[in-house]
Amino acid sequence: AKLTNDDVRNLAKDLGVKFVRLQFTDIFGILKNVAITVEQLDKALDGELMFDGSSIEGFVRIEESDMYLRPDPATFATFPWKPQEGAVARLICDIYDHDGKPFAGDPRFVLKRAIQEAAEMGYTMNVGPEAEFFLFHVDSEGKPTTITHDKAGYFDLTPVDLGENARRDMVLTLEQMGFEIEASHHEVAPGQHEIDFKFAEALDIADKVVTFKFVVRTIAQRHGLHATFMPKPVFGLSGSGMHMNQSLMKNGKNAFYDPAAADGLGQDCIYYVGGLMKHARAISAIVNPTVNSYKRLVSGYEAPVYVAWSARNRSPLIRIPAKRGESTRIELRNPDPACNPYLAMAVCLKAGIEGIKNRIMPPAPCNRNIYEMTPAEREQLGIGSLPENLHEAVQELKKDKVIQEALGEHIFGRFIEAKEIEWDRYRVQVHPWEIEEYLTKF
Ligand code: GLN
Ligand code: MG
Ligand code: MG
Ligand code: MG
Repeated sequence: AKLTNDDVRNLAKDLGVKFVRLQFTDIFGILKNVAITVEQLDKALDGELMFDGSSIEGFVRIEESDMYLRPDPATFATFPWKPQEGAVARLICDIYDHDGKPFAGDPRFVLKRAIQEAAEMGYTMNVGPEAEFFLFHVDSEGKPTTITHDKAGYFDLTPVDLGENARRDMVLTLEQMGFEIEASHHEVAPGQHEIDFKFAEALDIADKVVTFKFVVRTIAQRHGLHATFMPKPVFGLSGSGMHMNQSLMKNGKNAFYDPAAADGLGQDCIYYVGGLMKHARAISAIVNPTVNSYKRLVSGYEAPVYVAWSARNRSPLIRIPAKRGESTRIELRNPDPACNPYLAMAVCLKAGIEGIKNRIMPPAPCNRNIYEMTPAEREQLGIGSLPENLHEAVQELKKDKVIQEALGEHIFGRFIEAKEIEWDRYRVQVHPWEIEEYLTKF
């Protein structure tokens, strides 16, 4: 059962909590928090704690800046690492504006709205994320580098090194915080790791993803390492993705599974894929939200480049893992861990539900290696490409009314504005590659 405000009060007492961090994320998925002492907990649980929203990127202008935090008691957790005195707990909060309405700029609210819309049709979304990240050394001044001394690859057993010890500590810490860790392993690139936790309902998982990133960074730091969720930190090596396994439940059953169908896939699953593929180019802007995200989406590193789906190979955007029964799911492979998980799940759910509502059939599945096809072959099979850069993705988002509706006017507007500035800052730079290429040539 979910924890109530009373449970939180009791737990805080029993566990000797001294400080409570009230957490939320800005529209870019950056975790924010204000710490209160346990004496303020009642006031906080009653939603009376105010903060100045004008200082949070993408929130509001100064004139309308009084915002209220309403903690969700179900998110109560204590941090296993201890300060000198008393325990530290956290609560993830919803944000309300000064008139007591949910704040339209709160990504958690955006996800809740999409969940509500799906619930009205009888669906609940389950998500299983697979976040990858790099562990790098810090230099003598403590500054993060992109250097790793690790030479291991996919699923390798390394001699006990810093990376493996840190990863084990991460898993243990996450478990103490209520995560059910299903797997953790070394990824393809040196210094790259993945930790997978059990799927659950979308809101719970979005909360867990932000907590996960925070825990991974914190534990890495305690091992003298820097953990980064930057999508492509090193040219020539695999980037870090955050595959999103998704399924819908209806009447207590997995709606993506149909034992009577030849491939075991329910009609809802097919339409969901149809919806995701139709809106994939706009969704990119949300699930691949940085300039750097697009350096990962290139061929040769198991990251998708084309808008296609397959039950077999891993080059397309959407793969249907072989598992059937209650584990039937689709795996969306373009998201990267720089995305805001609340917005990412909201836009995917919205697109999938649109697919179901409008019976959108996806093109035929593609079981060949798309990277080996000629442009003409791809064209004939109706296989389009994902956006090649942030600018292109933002243009797609501006054209897609459905995805805009999922974000809501406020977040859509702020997001576009911020990403256009980000693109422009990047565009005017002179990058090392250009110096290398042109300085002596001309
Ligand atoms: N790192 C790859 C990516 O960028 C995924 C590798 C894998 O999990 N098979 O998505
Ligand atoms: Mg994986
Ligand atoms: Mg992986
Ligand atoms: Mg995967």
